[in-house]
Amino acid sequence: AIECDRMLREPICCILGHVDAGKTKLLDCIRHTNVQKGEAGGITQQIGATYIPVEYIKERAKPREGIVIKVPGLLVIDTPGHESFSNMRSRGLSLCDIAVVVVDIMHGLEKQTVESLALLKDRNVRFIVVLNKVDRLSGWKHCPDAPIKKALENQSGDVKREFEWRLTKVVTQLMENGFNTALYYDNHKFRKVFDIVPTSAISGEGIPDLLLMLVLRSQATMVEKLTFVNTVECTVLEVNDDKDLGTNIDVVLINGVLHKGDQVNVCTKQGPVTTTIRDLLTPHPLKELRVKGIYKHHKELKAAQGVKIVAWGLKYAIPGTPLFVLKPGDDLGQSEAKSQRNGNEEGNMMQEISRLKTCKEGVYVQASTFGILEAIIEHLNSPGVNVPVGGCNLGPIEKKDVMKASAMLKRKEEYAAILAFNVRVMPEAHAFASESGVKIVTADTVYKLVDSFNEHIKRSKE
Ligand code: GDP
Ligand code: MG
Repeated sequence: AIECDRMLREPICCILGHVDAGKTKLLDCIRHTNVQKGEAGGITQQIGATYIPVEYIKERAKPREGIVIKVPGLLVIDTPGHESFSNMRSRGLSLCDIAVVVVDIMHGLEKQTVESLALLKDRNVRFIVVLNKVDRLSGWKHCPDAPIKKALENQSGDVKREFEWRLTKVVTQLMENGFNTALYYDNHKFRKVFDIVPTSAISGEGIPDLLLMLVLRSQATMVEKLTFVNTVECTVLEVNDDKDLGTNIDVVLINGVLHKGDQVNVCTKQGPVTTTIRDLLTPHPLKELRVKGIYKHHKELKAAQGVKIVAWGLKYAIPGTPLFVLKPGDDLGQSEAKSQRNGNEEGNMMQEISRLKTCKEGVYVQASTFGILEAIIEHLNSPGVNVPVGGCNLGPIEKKDVMKASAMLKRKEEYAAILAFNVRVMPEAHAFASESGVKIVTADTVYKLVDSFNEHIKRSKE
């Protein structure tokens, strides 16, 4: 009876791991199989997320009789183009209920894997370790889309032995990092021991197991958290400027219902802003995410899902911060309290920025989220890279940012540059940069950003 009383929402899942471990491929593999098999019970692409309905999970995973899936589906947060988003120190992580940490079975734990694990421990987020690329074990016989246990039974003695020792190596490394782990089907103490699911994102072995484990472990360990409530819980993912739509924000609706016309309070670089939702959008099903201007309009949307919100005053919204809904019944005091909370949120953000490691002479760094900014600065400060950072900011690049960066023109000319990650450059800023000689370097990964900057240094020295 309790089962029926509870209305559970979709668990929200983030995919983390070292670069090249197979995060993108894993998500692709889940989606493509769906496309190949037709759209029945189909996966839908959402704003910043992929929605995997329970029907699809059942069809793929074919759970044994007696296993009950209680959640309506799974919402997987995409990590579009942001290599460091997946490496998130970002507040983005706080919106996720369960994480997948992808490990390349041939490489074991790597730097970003260890960082991701530390972060998850810190935020107390449950996770599943995916031991990916099993098809690279030498002599692996492909068993497309098979459950991993079956696929392993099909392998030769040599492959099984190589698998065992590589698994043991990763289990030991995880132990050294303070985590008890076990192959998920041998894990009888899943409240204390973390699961390992071996997969191939190329041929699909283990993917059914992963989908099933994500929902089963979520519903077994976080019923309270996953219970649908009527209070909106919502986090800003990105701020966009669209020719047709105007300024809008991509959010993840974690709980509650959003309505067109709702008054919301958003945290911006210029303080809390109260505005009205003009439009609630999701992409049309069957359409590619990048097809423009083809959104479905909604009167209301229910958690959990990825949503695009169109409203005035969102230009300086800060990704990673919460969005609050002001109820018509709210008296002024209450809405002020909410604004206050968002005001504090922004204050904290600015304080955190001021703590980032910068020095007097160095480049200017600008990024879309605090987590990414922090990751870039840490990377620039690391011994192998050694690019000093003189200043930083969040959000679109404006003239005042270029002015700050231009201070280096007189001190150390090659540092008169803005390293920009996933932010817009405002026209006045662009004009002032070309006029004054400040170089604006943009890239879609942190590594490319550093490479382009180094090229700029080389060229300016020639
Ligand atoms: P990400 O950086 O973690 O997103 O990694 P990608 O998904 O971009 O994968 C990095 C590389 O590894 C690509 O060339 C993929 O084709 C390859 N790759 C990913 N998963 C697998 C796998 O399961 N098996 C094999 N053989 N290659 C894989
Ligand atoms: Mg990727």
